[in-house]
Amino acid sequence: MGKVAINIVTGSLQQQETIVGIDLGTTNSLVAIVRPDERMPIALRETDGLTLVPSIVHFDKEGNPTVGNAARDLLVAEPERTIYSVKRLMGKAYKDVSGHAGMFAYKVIDDDTDSLVKIQVGEKFYSPIELSSYILKELKHRAEHLLKTPVTKAVITVPAYFNDAQRQATRDAGRLAGLDVLRIVNEPTAASLAYGLGAKPNEEKTIAVYDLGGGTFDISILHITNGIFEVLATNGDTYLGGDDMDRALATYWQQQAGYTDAELSADRSLVQQLRLTAEEAKKHLTDNAMYTGTINGKEVTVTRTQFDALIEPLVARTLTSCKNALKDAGLQTTQIDAVVMVGGSTRVPLVKESIRNFFGRELYDQLNPDEVVALGAAVQADILAGNNTDMLLLDVTPLSLGIETMGGLMDVLIPRNSKIPMKAGRQYTTQKDGQGGMRISVFQGERDLVQDNRKLAEFNLTNIPGMPAGMPKVEVTFLIDADGILKVSATELRSGVAQSIDMKPQYGLTDAEVEKMLMDSLTHAKDDMQTRALVEAITEAQQMLDTTDKFLLKNRAILSDEEVNMTLGQMQLLREAMNAQNKDRVQQETEKLNDLSRPYAERVMDAALKDAMKGRKV
Ligand code: ADP
Ligand code: MG
Repeated sequence: MGKVAINIVTGSLQQQETIVGIDLGTTNSLVAIVRPDERMPIALRETDGLTLVPSIVHFDKEGNPTVGNAARDLLVAEPERTIYSVKRLMGKAYKDVSGHAGMFAYKVIDDDTDSLVKIQVGEKFYSPIELSSYILKELKHRAEHLLKTPVTKAVITVPAYFNDAQRQATRDAGRLAGLDVLRIVNEPTAASLAYGLGAKPNEEKTIAVYDLGGGTFDISILHITNGIFEVLATNGDTYLGGDDMDRALATYWQQQAGYTDAELSADRSLVQQLRLTAEEAKKHLTDNAMYTGTINGKEVTVTRTQFDALIEPLVARTLTSCKNALKDAGLQTTQIDAVVMVGGSTRVPLVKESIRNFFGRELYDQLNPDEVVALGAAVQADILAGNNTDMLLLDVTPLSLGIETMGGLMDVLIPRNSKIPMKAGRQYTTQKDGQGGMRISVFQGERDLVQDNRKLAEFNLTNIPGMPAGMPKVEVTFLIDADGILKVSATELRSGVAQSIDMKPQYGLTDAEVEKMLMDSLTHAKDDMQTRALVEAITEAQQMLDTTDKFLLKNRAILSDEEVNMTLGQMQLLREAMNAQNKDRVQQETEKLNDLSRPYAERVMDAALKDAMKGRKV
């Protein structure tokens, strides 16, 4: 694979473009690479010596973003313009996070509890994907500045428990930042790779990865055979981390210094000082037995022993999670071959000691715990670049595979770079009453509209027995075997009617064509996402119109003339918004029509109709 590229900035010839590894963290993010000459992963370090970039975005009055330490400095002064912990919101709907809405100092929009969350800053709305893309863009710029070469390819890590929506959101954030995300890797897998665990062929190991960060705790049990990482169990607490240790110490000092709750609530900067000094003390106690400092002229002290007593209940909670994870995996501590320590908070001596005792073995903690995930991502990137032939490189799909859904949208079943063999499936339903057939069109590519992708095949699933729209359950399955042959099958589950087809997805595509399709998806990322949002809104609106039409026809008798006229008027407004191709208006008018007709529907809704209003339509 001897590709030669010319660096357009320096004009020099280079072996191959560096693929960076990125740890996109809740608290901190960073970039790492494997240098071609040294063959060791390193975290990229700024001239100030720092590798970590706080995952914080601040917007000024004009909406210009600032990322990192400069943004963190504004957390206290401008809390409503300074966004932190955005990773917690990735791929989430408001109803998923509403229980914790109080912990965000900025405005999380709650107008529609079922759709994805948005964050309001001044007059503008941002999705978690956009916010994450600002962090990724900053990391990309830093890497380009330090490496003096364009950086367009990355491996990004996510927690092992992230679901499809959260992984896709992370991919989209990368795409928006101008990065081709070659692979999404689980954080515990990356940490293991950084230590070279499980990277050799014929190696079999069971590993526990203990990750205690700023605000989250994860324990993962992995099984590795022949370079394939399998997650056996995950457990943890999404609201437990170093921040809780800081809070425990701050409360202790509050009592020591005799501050009343009233004094604290009157003085925000005092609260902030307590918190920041507590974090400083915590870090100091990692290497010292005692800390002394001052807050507002008053002296505060804490010994290692006192601190340990304060955080002991927090550490005990992590041990409970470890026990549960082992139980889920059906394993004893003695069956764990290695314990890997990840996250800044694992530097705390009591944490190390407790974990060492719990598992009864030495820990993998020699690498910097803040950096180990990014280092592993860089190792994975290096393997993908084909530079590391000692390690196993699994076969992967070069482009995403999916089918066409309503409005010409691409619905991806197997994302690009999935390892093969691979199987994926999803259920769809019909759009019209009595619909007897369904066309399954298979596409390959990264764009959101199928018209921009490459069509591989098409077939019809026929003889679906007559049922109301939304009732049939059509399961579409993609299976890629070890030779890269894709088999697509569709089965209507209620009747058992089935149909399938075989094809070879890569056939006829040269490396250059694959490259071009990827570049196109990068240059069109923003447009594509807007188009997708509009198409989705219009599709939903059309369904709403169809349902209402049908409803009016069937239930004219129970409605007053006034109700019918109001409904028809609102349907007209919705059609106008659709014609104007205005996403926000379409959504507003759909919502209004929904509000208007809901009470009527409740009058007569029977189970079948309930079914018909749900479900995905092909
Ligand atoms: P995340 O994965 O959530 O982005 P990190 O792994 O970067 O978080 O961990 C951040 C946490 O590590 C913070 O709570 C920070 O105070 C803590 N931390 C960093 N250095 C030390 C240290 N020397 N001793 C104790 N805790 C530390
Ligand atoms: Mg982390």
